[in-house]
Amino acid sequence: MIHKVLYNLGVSLRNPVLKSHYKFLLESDHWSLERLQAYQFGKLKELLVFAYQYSSFYKEEFDRVGFDPSEFKSMEDFKRIPIISKQDLLAHSAEVRSTYPFKKTVQSETSGTSGATLKFVRNIEWDSAARAALWRGYNWYGVRPWDRNGYFWGYNIDPKKVPITRLQDWLQNRFRLFSYNEEDVKAFAEKLKHGTVYIGGYSSMIYETAKMVNCLGIGDDIHLKLIRGTSEKIYESYQEEVVKAFGRRITSQYGSAESGCIAFECPCGSMHIAMENVVVEVIEGEIVVTNLYSQSFPIIRYKLGDSVKLAEPDFKCKCGRAHPVITDILGRVGKKIEGKESNYPSLTLYYLFKNLGLTKNIILNYQAVQKEKGKVVLKVEQDTPKFEPYLRIEIDKYFHDDVDFVILWGQTLHTHQGKLKDFITELE
Ligand SMILES: [Zn+2]
Repeated sequence: MIHKVLYNLGVSLRNPVLKSHYKFLLESDHWSLERLQAYQFGKLKELLVFAYQYSSFYKEEFDRVGFDPSEFKSMEDFKRIPIISKQDLLAHSAEVRSTYPFKKTVQSETSGTSGATLKFVRNIEWDSAARAALWRGYNWYGVRPWDRNGYFWGYNIDPKKVPITRLQDWLQNRFRLFSYNEEDVKAFAEKLKHGTVYIGGYSSMIYETAKMVNCLGIGDDIHLKLIRGTSEKIYESYQEEVVKAFGRRITSQYGSAESGCIAFECPCGSMHIAMENVVVEVIEGEIVVTNLYSQSFPIIRYKLGDSVKLAEPDFKCKCGRAHPVITDILGRVGKKIEGKESNYPSLTLYYLFKNLGLTKNIILNYQAVQKEKGKVVLKVEQDTPKFEPYLRIEIDKYFHDDVDFVILWGQTLHTHQGKLKDFITELE
């Protein structure tokens, strides 16, 4: 009860518009697709007009292609706006930033996993809309934001910041796994058994913890309403281990600092796009996102760098929600494996291992490392070298003799130093 009071107090002080956004999202949760699209179009037009007026970067971009936002009439028009990348935002961040005098903003930055860190300010509506979309996702599972929760996101915590992090965690009824030594994992698992409602973090971290919990045999009596896995690809092999340790599957939530919450998986297993907050396009297999609340630093037709797949337009989720569905997040785009003769997208590995799962029911976790042209070291977590012939057959289908693969079995993939990457190259 105290945490509900604290939470509401915190919200009113920090972010007074959050509650009204949340209420709105619970209502629009039941809207028809036509109604959602009409609403989204209206918000999009507002943003485009705003960006044209207050961001010199977008004014120039729109003028360059002859796009007049006040004449904006259909999504076909929208496609004329140039697509931008993180490099564009980094190179022009001063011009992208809008000149409108917002009363309240939040400092923000992207995680540095894909190169340089992008710093920007978010107007409070942006921050609220993103949080409200998360809360709606929680609501689908009967979870309330102030419920007791465990958190895994503990990379590289500066020891000096531990006390303040603990205080913030206490205020949010949250406890966190600071390290992965046996004692800490035991203490964490113990807390999960007493009044913890949900947990969240990178899916690879949840998986690593689940493995330890299973190994120590301390997973009984854990009953959670939600396990929220963020952003990283969730491998099917993770789910088996996590179900065994924590009693339910990881629920996928997809988003980024720039875009806010893009999609949340419903209890029927579909990742519904929060189209009240974002416009999602998929162009040549790559996600392009527009954040409808990003007035302070407009994010319009922005390439996030992930390869995704959408459900067919006539797909209807059993849950009844009309919001379109992302069926698959395949991973980062843009990295390439260099063979002796040709290059291959790193996603080839994803398909190769997926095939192995589908045709032979062999589920493996992997990480590929390339240090020299024509050669790849493939680390496999499972210690099952008996599967090597099957793996070799799949590799040959895609790479023939062009890339030599060294396969190492029984490897530790996660260093706990950052997000788990499935392909690391030192050639680029
Ligand atoms: Zn659904």
